[in-house]
Amino acid sequence: EELAGLLRGRIRDVPDYPKPGILFKDITPLLADPEAFGALTEALAAFCKEAGATKVVGLEARGFILAAPVAVRAGIGFVPVRKAGKLPGATLSQTYDLEYGSAEIEIHAEDLTAEDRVVVIDDVLATGGTAEASLRLIRRSGARVAGLAVLMELEFLPGRDRVLPELAGAPYQAL
Ligand code: IMP
Repeated sequence: EELAGLLRGRIRDVPDYPKPGILFKDITPLLADPEAFGALTEALAAFCKEAGATKVVGLEARGFILAAPVAVRAGIGFVPVRKAGKLPGATLSQTYDLEYGSAEIEIHAEDLTAEDRVVVIDDVLATGGTAEASLRLIRRSGARVAGLAVLMELEFLPGRDRVLPELAGAPYQAL
């Protein structure tokens, strides 16, 4: 539809970045266009409202850029999920497998409570590993997962199949 076309037209394909054979989806043209960035923020804020979210979690680093204005627009709090070792307080951490090796992400446990309903936002769903680990972190914090929204899903990868079980019926949207 119209929004998808606007967003798609502002995403730049960069071949062989960061490695040969990878077609990188660059969202900086979208961020530089206030009409597209504004429409994306509105759509994500509407998703949060429909999900009844009380908090929005952004995934480091591009998820921060998308989720922060959504939090302000929706009138709910923003909570970062960061790569291990960056948060100063008490954290919950989760490791997950990458193609080669593994990664670890963390959240400030005290930023979420059992009363919270949390929407997770990121730019790209690829293998789904990052989003799946984030949803697990939220569940382990005692808060409720209210949904997952991404700007784009790489449909040739099985990311959706990986995150749907972790969502347990909560809504998923790829804009
Ligand atoms: P996944 O864990 O394999 O789903 O990878 C998703 C994470 O990698 C997200 O946090 C994205 O920001 C990043 N990512 C993967 N592919 C791309 C891309 O083509 N463009 C921008 N970010 C990407």
